[in-house]
Amino acid sequence: MMPGSLFVVAAPSGAGKTSLVKALVDSMTGVCLSVSHTTRPPRPGERDGVDYYFIDDAAFETMQQAGAFLEHAQVFDHHYGTAREKVAGLLEQGMDVILEIDWQGRRQVQARFPDCVSIFILPPSRETLERRLRLRGQDGETVIARRMRDARTEISHYNEFDYLVVNDVFETALEDLMAIIRGRRLLRLRQEERLTPLLGELLLSRRPTNS
Ligand code: GDP
Ligand code: ADP
Ligand code: 5GP
Repeated sequence: MMPGSLFVVAAPSGAGKTSLVKALVDSMTGVCLSVSHTTRPPRPGERDGVDYYFIDDAAFETMQQAGAFLEHAQVFDHHYGTAREKVAGLLEQGMDVILEIDWQGRRQVQARFPDCVSIFILPPSRETLERRLRLRGQDGETVIARRMRDARTEISHYNEFDYLVVNDVFETALEDLMAIIRGRRLLRLRQEERLTPLLGELLLSRRPTNS
């Protein structure tokens, strides 16, 4: 079976990547989100194994030493990483897999999966970004200030990504993400195997011609 495609989605904190990716996974079949490991404490309402695997520094270190991560990075004083085995298993099943990771992680993933598709989500303005962080209501003022400071660094790497999506109107940004995934699925190289019977019929069952 043709393996699935790997998509990397990055954005500054608060741009809406988690909401968009969740909506994407809910509205398209054959696409799933890789659940990352993190040493960050859970926010209210976040569930272990659903939003993240919440682990401590020692457990993270052990996994890292064992080479269990496809990629890992330090973001906002915490460690984040993608488990190698989970992603490989999902791709083998033909699933399209989305990694919600930072720009440092994208570099590591691209080195191992040169064909991965990378998408950067931009907020419509800096002011909106800050408002969304506040409206989300899950981080304190110190954390918000830190994230706004780091947003500039994250955004400065926009030019390392294949696609840019502006998350102004949520539904429009969601449509854009779906279009990127559909476009990827329509590539000839990805269609050929699935369409072998059709192509066979179209090419072989022709009537003899006079020419
Ligand atoms: P949020 O971005 O506001 O939802 O805050 P989080 O604390 O959930 O994530 C902070 C940053 O860590 C974001 O830039 C994520 O893209 C990044 N991140 C999350 N998981 C991973 C991961 O597995 N690997 C890497 N490299 N970065 C990650
Ligand atoms: P991220 O995962 O990038 O940190 P979230 O998905 O948590 O961002 O979104 C941050 C906040 O902004 C959330 O409260 C979310 O409901 C809100 N949000 C996301 N997209 C939009 C949008 N297009 N318009 C208004 N609010 C949005
Ligand atoms: P979730 O994706 O976790 O279900 O939703 C997270 C948050 O995203 C919601 O609380 C909501 O505020 C925001 N969100 C989801 N869809 C929309 C939308 O279409 N427009 C706006 N403005 N916010 C949305």
